[in-house]
Amino acid sequence: MVTECAATRQMVRRFVAGDTLDQAVEAVRHLNRRGMAATLDCLGEAVTSAGEAERARDSYLEAIEVIWRQGLGANVSLKLTQLGLDIDERLCERNLRSIVERASASGGFVRVDMEGAAYTDRTLALVRRLRAAYPRSIGPVIQAYLYRSRDDIAQLAAEGAGIRLCKGAYREPKTVAFPKKRDVDANYVRLTQDLLKSGIYHGIATHDPVMINAVLDFCRQNKISRDAFEFQMLYGIRPDLQQILVSHGWRLRLYVPYGRAWFPYFMRRLAERPANLWFLLKNIFRR
Ligand SMILES: Cc1cc2nc3c(=O)[nH]c(=O)nc-3n(C[C@H](O)[C@H](O)[C@H](O)COP(=O)(O)OP(=O)(O)OC[C@H]3O[C@@H](n4cnc5c(N)ncnc54)[C@H](O)[C@@H]3O)c2cc1C
Repeated sequence: MVTECAATRQMVRRFVAGDTLDQAVEAVRHLNRRGMAATLDCLGEAVTSAGEAERARDSYLEAIEVIWRQGLGANVSLKLTQLGLDIDERLCERNLRSIVERASASGGFVRVDMEGAAYTDRTLALVRRLRAAYPRSIGPVIQAYLYRSRDDIAQLAAEGAGIRLCKGAYREPKTVAFPKKRDVDANYVRLTQDLLKSGIYHGIATHDPVMINAVLDFCRQNKISRDAFEFQMLYGIRPDLQQILVSHGWRLRLYVPYGRAWFPYFMRRLAERPANLWFLLKNIFRR
């Protein structure tokens, strides 16, 4: 089995902080000491029973409690299909509300990851409903590969929402998303400029040096200060670049996943970079 293979385990450990919250907290402490903030992702998605969705909710309540008690520089990121969106939207909203309520009570923040395009409308609608009650405690993710994203950003920024912008990690048809990487990249740069001009604190999530340089140039030209936004990257990806940004005084938050349900997350990381897949296959067949 691929999941029992040492090469797979080793590579999973590159992207996933551990099986348990304790291990994730250890990773967050280490990042905080190096001047980086974190967002904890208790791995899981597409659950098929209310019990699983409630267990995911409880894991997040525990993570928020630990972040608060231990004074960690961290917030949480979650997926709505992990809280039951595929089962019953009301169940999902109840679970999300308890998490956001708890985060809000301790000055925390909940980032709602964006999944495939079939979920975009429902995800934004739920985030908006929760923002109405807890405007400072929850924010959405927008994916630059979707044609609709410029309009979504304009509306969300007008509502005062803090957004994480990423390129997008799901396989989407060309009816909804730019099929060519160069168009996604061009849109990403355009959208970062919309975000940076909005005067709201956003997260710019990318490991792409071309995107990062475009942001730095735009900040220089428009006198945007280092504390006006944060860069965000994934745990285990481009640690060299992470260190450079922090050493130049830019804010950086790392997405730190933990837990046993790592498979879909791991597969997206492999799909993003064919070299990861070749590395894994080479090591599996070397044994
Ligand atoms: C903090 C954060 C949160 C995210 N949240 C979401 C979300 O909610 N929804 C969503 O759809 N997507 C999310 N993503 C994933 C994102 O959409 C992209 O798939 C991913 O970040 C790769 O795009 P890139 O901007 O790094 O650029 P790319 O052009 O894909 O990569 C640029 C460079 O980064 C490095 N790199 C990128 N990916 C990898 C990898 N897997 N392994 C090794 N090196 C790599 C390589 O050096 C590559 O040349 C998130 C990403 C980040 C950083």
